[in-house]
Amino acid sequence: MPVSFSQLDNSYDVVVIGSGLGGLTTANRLAYCGHKVLILEHHHRLGGLSTWFKRRGHIFDISLHGFPYGMVKTCKKYWNKEIMQSIVQLPHIVFDNPQFSLRTTFDKIDFTKLLKTHFRISGEVIDKFFATVAKMNFYDDQTMTTRELFERFFPGRSDVHRLLMEPITYANGSTLDDPAITYGIVFSNFMNKGVFTFEGGTDKLIGMMTDELEKNGVTICARAKVDKVITEQGRVRGVSVHGKTITAKAVVSNSGITNTIQNLTDRDLYSDEFYEKAEKIRVNTSSCQVYLGIRQGEKIDDVGDLLFTSKSPEFDSEELLDMKTKSKTFSIYYPKTRPGSDQYTVVASMNSRYDDWAHLDEETYQMEKQSLIARSITDLEKYLPGVSTKIDWSEAATPRTFNSYTLHTRGTSFGTKFEGLDISRSISKEVAGLFHVGSVGIIMSGWLGAINYGVIVANDVDVFLKS
Ligand SMILES: Cc1cc2nc3c(=O)[nH]c(=O)nc-3n(C[C@H](O)[C@H](O)[C@H](O)COP(=O)(O)OP(=O)(O)OC[C@H]3O[C@@H](n4cnc5c(N)ncnc54)[C@H](O)[C@@H]3O)c2cc1C
Repeated sequence: MPVSFSQLDNSYDVVVIGSGLGGLTTANRLAYCGHKVLILEHHHRLGGLSTWFKRRGHIFDISLHGFPYGMVKTCKKYWNKEIMQSIVQLPHIVFDNPQFSLRTTFDKIDFTKLLKTHFRISGEVIDKFFATVAKMNFYDDQTMTTRELFERFFPGRSDVHRLLMEPITYANGSTLDDPAITYGIVFSNFMNKGVFTFEGGTDKLIGMMTDELEKNGVTICARAKVDKVITEQGRVRGVSVHGKTITAKAVVSNSGITNTIQNLTDRDLYSDEFYEKAEKIRVNTSSCQVYLGIRQGEKIDDVGDLLFTSKSPEFDSEELLDMKTKSKTFSIYYPKTRPGSDQYTVVASMNSRYDDWAHLDEETYQMEKQSLIARSITDLEKYLPGVSTKIDWSEAATPRTFNSYTLHTRGTSFGTKFEGLDISRSISKEVAGLFHVGSVGIIMSGWLGAINYGVIVANDVDVFLKS
């Protein structure tokens, strides 16, 4: 269990600021290696964006919509076997839009079949496309955009572009104009074996992770917002939290990279070149979500696990971000999500711009939230006729909500664009003992990306502490 602030020691080997999946993983690995680790989390709950909330008997998951199979190996290796064993496939992924309606297991075999039979693409082109994306890695050429990649293999085929791109835009906020590798790496991860989820829900996962952290000796303190990273002669000395200084040889910030540089540290720590580059980091867009709880005792039909729906004629990154977008993903949580429960919940997710929501006066804000809920229920009726009469809880989250709970710049859901990765990786060269972990560069975001990045950063910190 998290300890109270007054119980904290004055000094640790490492302080981790934030308990997103990246922060938790770094903390766990470092404690496993024998370091004395403290996690300080601003929210009352651990998990960051990997979180949930309860209303009238319902549990709503915020970011448990799907992740690639890679989570199985990653959780087994860097967390534990029990966590790994709760990872199960989401077998029914649905697309429904004016260009096509289909159901898929969202893996290479099924996509190859669909591309051949439904979209009439030749086997040779499909094989070449899959071979190209499978080879993509972080060190590749970053000048080719995803749009150019698609045009190379499927020129003029906006329907194919939509099939390939729409889920990835929801999965990491990337657009057709981002570097193709940010698409290729994530898409290939999914194509490996399909889309997976955590049986038992986010609350169970974070509970199991907390147990593992405590087993490894990590001290955890919630409701502890770090105000500043304290440095001395360009080196990390600790953090300032609730007016108290806690010293540490290394500090790992799981706060956003832009937050870390602009708010948690002083400008004069950085070289001009680094700071100028950091100022140019673009953050990804944010999200809106609508949470719908089905009255206890009511049932809904199995219409698929994850539904990518749209009434927009073609895929368009801008349309997807519009406040009144005609596109949304429905995640349907049947009782199997939390075995033993008889709960059904639905979460509608949309990508959104912070600026559209940030400056609304309170009355307009509440009105827009209500109309978002109403539109989501109307759209859901197409798949679950009569569902509106079964809903006993509805609530909306907006970019403002994500900003307030995680402190992320502009409520970003998926960290930064590609340039954030280089800054995150090189911050420790500017300030000895300061590291960053968390969603950057699109490819390090998402549950799998954040955990894997947590392992990479833990290795860096371990080397630093032992040097
Ligand atoms: C709506 C939505 C849906 C998503 N769906 C999926 C999905 O289906 N699959 C998937 O793989 N990914 C999904 N994601 C993305 C995924 O949740 C994130 O990429 C991942 O959880 C981010 O982990 P992180 O380590 O970057 O930290 P974050 O989760 O961003 O957490 C950072 C933590 O740092 C804390 N913090 C910040 N500043 C301070 C401070 N000064 N002091 C103390 N604490 C601080 C914050 O409170 C927060 O807890 C989704 C995200 C959103 C928003």
